[in-house]
Amino acid sequence: MLKFVACSQAYPALALASVLLLGSACAAPADNAGRWAAATGPAAGAPQVLGTYNNGCVQGAIALPLDGPGWRVIRPQRNRYWGHANLVAAVETIGRRMHAEFRKNILVADLAQPRGGPVSGHASHQIGLDADIRFQLVADGVLDTALRWEGYEISMLLPAVKEMDRTRWSHEQTAMLRIAATLPVVDRIFVNPVIKRELCQTVTGDRAWLAKIQPWYGHDGHMHVRVHCPADSWSCVRQAPLGAGDGCGGELARWFVPERPRRPGPRRKPPEPPQACAAILNAPDIRDQRSEDRGQRR
Ligand SMILES: [Zn+2]
Repeated sequence: MLKFVACSQAYPALALASVLLLGSACAAPADNAGRWAAATGPAAGAPQVLGTYNNGCVQGAIALPLDGPGWRVIRPQRNRYWGHANLVAAVETIGRRMHAEFRKNILVADLAQPRGGPVSGHASHQIGLDADIRFQLVADGVLDTALRWEGYEISMLLPAVKEMDRTRWSHEQTAMLRIAATLPVVDRIFVNPVIKRELCQTVTGDRAWLAKIQPWYGHDGHMHVRVHCPADSWSCVRQAPLGAGDGCGGELARWFVPERPRRPGPRRKPPEPPQACAAILNAPDIRDQRSEDRGQRR
């Protein structure tokens, strides 16, 4: 079986479709994280998501504008504001609706790298379908410089006791979760179990959207929004659907007993990403492709 080292020289000349059709044995090596992080722009080609949320890549990603009507991107120097168009549109919609309701802006942290792939500090965020949005909201105007570049995170929980911090949490954060969860494109949203419990205890009226709010470790300063695999990305691996209930029963209670769900152990050697991701990693930058096209027209 060919190794990536042997294949890598040949890949730039291969279109993704060719690789898929040929069923090449070449695969992006799992220890290639640095190259994914170093990609400055997206791979040219039609939008395609490949693999799983925690092991894959994306072609034809687009950038979330750093400032928009209802959102601000923080830590843009990390170049993690890329995603599939469905994700970018969802984030923009959440921002717009929050601004329409509260005249405030959401703070958007990591989406994905321009071509996806492993992202330091995250298990997922690999295929352009995950976005971290802070619970903290900011007023209109120029974003504070330290917040923009350092993006310090503010927990919604009181330290030590792990109860809600009522000086920080309000109906605005609940509204943000409701707005996000009621978007059909959103598959699920991860928040701290204490936050999920707060929603279970306070949301009245329509509670169907609570089904999408999933308790998980951390996530006390941000919500992690995950959108569905795009219908035309046939290599995107869908997750098992969530149950129809509000998730406020036994599945939540088990987070508050001594035998709470075990935190996953340290990651071992990550599995090989989908074979076609090697082509995406080596593909021309979409922006170079556009300037080439312009050149041809002249
Ligand atoms: Zn996240």
